Amino acid sequence: MIKPLWAGAVWSILWYIPIVLLLASCSPSETPQQAAVGNLAVGGAGTITGDSGLTGTVIAGADSELAFPEKMRQVLSKALIPGDLSRRIMAAAADGPNFILDLLACLEGDPYLWRLVDKAHPLPEGYEPEDLVELTGGAYQINRRGLMLRRAAANALTAMAYAAKADGVVFLAASSYRSYDYQVEVYARNVREDGQEEADRLSARPGYSQHQTGLVLDFGPIDDSFATTPAGRWILSNAARFGWSISFPDGYEAVTGYVWESWHYRYVGPELAAFIDTYFDGIQQYALQFIHEWENIR
Ligand SMILES: [Zn+2]
Repeated sequence: MIKPLWAGAVWSILWYIPIVLLLASCSPSETPQQAAVGNLAVGGAGTITGDSGLTGTVIAGADSELAFPEKMRQVLSKALIPGDLSRRIMAAAADGPNFILDLLACLEGDPYLWRLVDKAHPLPEGYEPEDLVELTGGAYQINRRGLMLRRAAANALTAMAYAAKADGVVFLAASSYRSYDYQVEVYARNVREDGQEEADRLSARPGYSQHQTGLVLDFGPIDDSFATTPAGRWILSNAARFGWSISFPDGYEAVTGYVWESWHYRYVGPELAAFIDTYFDGIQQYALQFIHEWENIR
């Protein structure tokens, strides 16, 4: 027997209440996400019956009342998730509270972990991360001094490097944080050398680069040979455990806007990395588009 989709939402509401109480007791300062979850659990939850007779659960506050199945449908459609994948995600969401709980766990993280940064979605003007630290190497190699990542990404890189080393693999950090001004140079050089159309397949325009988040690392060598190196293979299989996700996988240029980059990984945190693998076939772009629309649709 097929469970109705809203059953998942109802279960999830029941699950939220202790989670929200726990959050409230742990954290004196409420983030917008916690406020949203609190609203969901306390103020926004209720059952509605629409014209169609479909009973759903209201999952947001007074300004944004959409039944859970309707919101899922709208988000999947606006996020351009392909039909087959959409159906599987709807089925997962209908199957119990895990999908929505996993989603909320992602949203509890730093918003820049799940922020969509692609050809259509730039970073805020002048964005500079506040907690950049220099990569020191040690368990991994660096190709030059001055490589920087945000602290959480740098720590996750070190943890991943020790695990790789235990398996006999040492990787090379080749390119990391790029400021807006540096990306101006990178993009201009690519346009000069390859023309604008090709430059847009290979590199981001300033303000539109994931590298500007301070959460992205290019492993070396930065070319297609990386995929078949021991490091390339090991990282592809193990990155998600440490919160890293390949941004531009093979065969998805039409989705991501970029050619396959086997070396380019974004730190998204272990929760989102698992969410991407569990529900989105490992395609980061789909998951980020989904979350982007989830946060925007009211
Ligand atoms: Zn890159």
